[in-house]
Amino acid sequence: FEKYPVRFLWGAEEFASIPDGAVPEVAFLGRSNVGKSSILNALMAQKGMARTSSKPGRTKQMNAFSVGGARLTLLDMPGYGHGSRESWGREIMEYLRSRKQFRRAFLLIDPVHGFKEVDMMIMEAFADMGIPYQLVLSKTDKLDEPKKKRERLATPHINEVFMDVQGVMRDHGGHSGFGEILATSSEPVKKGINELRWAILRATGL
Ligand code: GDP
Repeated sequence: FEKYPVRFLWGAEEFASIPDGAVPEVAFLGRSNVGKSSILNALMAQKGMARTSSKPGRTKQMNAFSVGGARLTLLDMPGYGHGSRESWGREIMEYLRSRKQFRRAFLLIDPVHGFKEVDMMIMEAFADMGIPYQLVLSKTDKLDEPKKKRERLATPHINEVFMDVQGVMRDHGGHSGFGEILATSSEPVKKGINELRWAILRATGL
């Protein structure tokens, strides 16, 4: 991931306009603001690479980045939630269902906010369609013991979060979800990024 330069490959709003290719692909999904671009930048070890919000149009697109000397492609899917539910899904689901070199979706969850209805709907859709996916917790630094008592009471403990996530996986996760839940943070310190890289390599057989 760090040895070769990262290259922006393509951006597409529709499945039909995605260029052909044979390189394995993994896709990153999550609610807007979940920390997806931060995780992708940490993974690619390139700061502004996935910070697409400043580039007009790119936030609505699926954006592909070539890493590892063109051996692997990472897909940054548009963030969902905030009322964009209907328009969000179609092209992305089409990609996840039909793209031959797609290997696994990484579904990001902010552990402070937990699962929202739309996250559950997506997991159930993945289960129905047999789309392989794995859950990744973002921003887990926020679960570190806060100093003030008031904040401490409002912040879940990491063990509680894992229990909740395992419960949700059991009830809504279906057969296509991978059991291992990854805990990451991208700032102020990076945690779990190498573990996520290993999971990507395992998913793609690289
Ligand atoms: P995206 O909309 O899912 O791409 O989210 P961003 O990566 O742009 O992050 C959304 C906000 O969360 C930004 O203000 C980031 O600074 C913050 N953020 C992202 N990752 C982390 C993290 O690991 N820890 C903390 N504390 N904040 C984070």
